[in-house]
Amino acid sequence: MSTVDRAGDREMMGEVTNVQFYNVHDGPGVRTVVFLKGCPLECAWCSNPEAMHTKRRMGLLRDLCTGCGKCLDACPEVALSLDAEETIEIDREKCSDCGECVPVCLPGALTLHGRQMSAEEVFEEFQKDKMFFGSEGGVTFSGGEALVQADFVARVFELCKRDGLHTCLETTGCASKRAWAQVLPFTDLILFDLKHMDSDKHREGTGVTNALILDNARWLAATGARLRFRVPLIPGYNDDPQNIAELADFVRSLDAENVEGIELMPYHRMGTGKYDSLGWEYALKDLEAPSEEHVAAVRDAIRERGVACSISR
Ligand code: SF4
Ligand code: SF4
Repeated sequence: MSTVDRAGDREMMGEVTNVQFYNVHDGPGVRTVVFLKGCPLECAWCSNPEAMHTKRRMGLLRDLCTGCGKCLDACPEVALSLDAEETIEIDREKCSDCGECVPVCLPGALTLHGRQMSAEEVFEEFQKDKMFFGSEGGVTFSGGEALVQADFVARVFELCKRDGLHTCLETTGCASKRAWAQVLPFTDLILFDLKHMDSDKHREGTGVTNALILDNARWLAATGARLRFRVPLIPGYNDDPQNIAELADFVRSLDAENVEGIELMPYHRMGTGKYDSLGWEYALKDLEAPSEEHVAAVRDAIRERGVACSISR
């Protein structure tokens, strides 16, 4: 998050990767979702790797490249070349992620992930689909970890609440109390990820322990904030009976009416192509999605421990 001077006014700016319209996955009803850059976690299964780091990153969709060669002259770093099949290659050692090549690529094979938007510009994006939100829908901030830019989220949500929009925050839970305090007054629903109850396993899969995350979950439940826990169900990582039982028992122990229960998010492979486009290796390339039967069995095991549980659509 930063501020810039525009026509004498200080505007709050955020680093955004994507604005997604008509989303029915991240919160109730129809929503517009804004994905922000930067995250303290590095989950091996992340389906939004372009949002993991605050630094911008060039993406190349090879299937869209026609081999026209127009980008070659646009690159000040001479980082682009055509391979034997007349498809563009990016030399990541040379590429400075400046984005100069993007406008000349008419088929849209080149994308720079990350752009600055002001709080007011994001709010204007929300106005476009407002008519579809109905009584349930609204707006969601996701990431990355949106609370890396907590000031920005708070500013946009403040504008939204003044406009009567339902606000939802999708979060890893890994943020300071100060960051939480900024957004809570303007947040209607928190979609709070729980990945693993064993702290060592949590660090193995995400790069950080779960201590702060669980502490925040307890604290938020006690504040009365509306919470829905989301568990990315990763085969062989967190779907064993012991971890599932501990997750359910943790949520039940919060014993708060404002806690809606658990939503399971079965692992999928939809983000895998993004890693290739960004020039990164995907660590879970051999992992298959769980079967419907297995996901249903996990849901039932959670329900049997007295916790409401649904499966993400
Ligand atoms: S982002 Fe900049 S440095 Fe990288 S390939 Fe494009 S023009 Fe070259
Ligand atoms: S401008 Fe786009 S389509 Fe043309 S060679 Fe470069 S990446 Fe491929």
